[in-house]
Amino acid sequence: SHKSKVTIVGSGNWGSVAAKLVASNTFNLDSFHDEVRMWVFEETLPSGEKLTDVINRTNENVKYLPGVKLGKNVIADPDLDNAVKDANMLVFVTPHQFMDAICKRLVGNIQGDVEAISLIKGMEVKREGPSMISSLISEKLGINCSVLMGANIANEIAVENFSEATIGYRENKEIAEKWVQLFSTPYFIVTPVQDVEGVELCGTLKNVVALAAGFVDGLEMGNNTKAAIMRIGLREMRAFSKLLFSSVKDSTFFESCGVADLITTCLGGRNRKVADAFAKSGGKRSFDELEAEMLQGQKLQGVLTAKDVYEVLSHRGWLELFPLFATVHEICIGHLPPSAIVEYSDRKCKET
Ligand code: NAD
Ligand code: 13P
Repeated sequence: SHKSKVTIVGSGNWGSVAAKLVASNTFNLDSFHDEVRMWVFEETLPSGEKLTDVINRTNENVKYLPGVKLGKNVIADPDLDNAVKDANMLVFVTPHQFMDAICKRLVGNIQGDVEAISLIKGMEVKREGPSMISSLISEKLGINCSVLMGANIANEIAVENFSEATIGYRENKEIAEKWVQLFSTPYFIVTPVQDVEGVELCGTLKNVVALAAGFVDGLEMGNNTKAAIMRIGLREMRAFSKLLFSSVKDSTFFESCGVADLITTCLGGRNRKVADAFAKSGGKRSFDELEAEMLQGQKLQGVLTAKDVYEVLSHRGWLELFPLFATVHEICIGHLPPSAIVEYSDRKCKET
């Protein structure tokens, strides 16, 4: 048949919500097969049961999205090759640090006319330079890859509160429209823009700014300071994106993936929350320790991204151009105290 078949690669907090969104549409629209496969990185729960079995029995991801039904047409599958086997639309949504290994496992197993979309916020820095996750997928698997990013705290979308998202597509508007169809619901409004790099960099870089916002919260500096950090962060996001890709559009920063995601993540995200605790500990507790203690298996993206960004900045001689990004990394690794997050702007004022 000509029906599209969708597989979700990933099943964390946002992965599970993505499965729920998509499954409600594949069930209602004739152009898609009802069933949505969701690849699960298998684990054994304290009860002794496998997570996959529990998801398939209860229709809930009891570990990463408890209390939310995913839809009966979502089938959890611990076997990655089997999960992607018949799919021609692949949705990638894992923490970004696992994507290199996942792509290596998938090489050679993806059939010809497959389209991908990445909901993953992060980058990979290799000796050749930085690579966005959508390019990693595209290059390793030989398939086109769009992106979907936005002001999308997963737990809020899980209970169907209104929000928006942005799809970044490369050339083919029809493909973008197909993804819009797959993800849109009355409470989830999706807008396509022709700027993959801009959309993906917005989603990736705002996680670094969210750490800065968390430091300011932990130090109890108030809303003016936090707003200043967000403004400076947004400027660095735009400048960095444009230096890496001259094609990046200014208008992208006004989409949901830009300023709106920055705001929601700095107010209510996990990066903010853990950075707040880090600052409250005076930088004495490590991010790894706090992540394990506070997030129940969910993963932070900002700390790794700050390191990746720092590597790019130092490699290209851009460190002084991005005092906020650079300072966040130096705080994360303990070279500077959390309070340095505001002292850096001092440094900037004296220079300009
Ligand atoms: P998460 O933070 O809940 O991460 C946990 C997931 O990682 C689990 O599914 C776990 O099984 C899996 N995992 C652990 N070890 C693994 C390994 N070695 N290999 C493969 N998988 C492993 O995940 P998430 O919230 O779904 O985030 C995925 C992406 O979506 C991230 O890039 C994140 O920035 C982005 N995102 C998250 C949210 C949100 O609110 N949670 C919103 C928008 C975007
Ligand atoms: P956190 O990972 O900081 O929770 O951000 C979630 C997000 O990307 C919201 O769009």
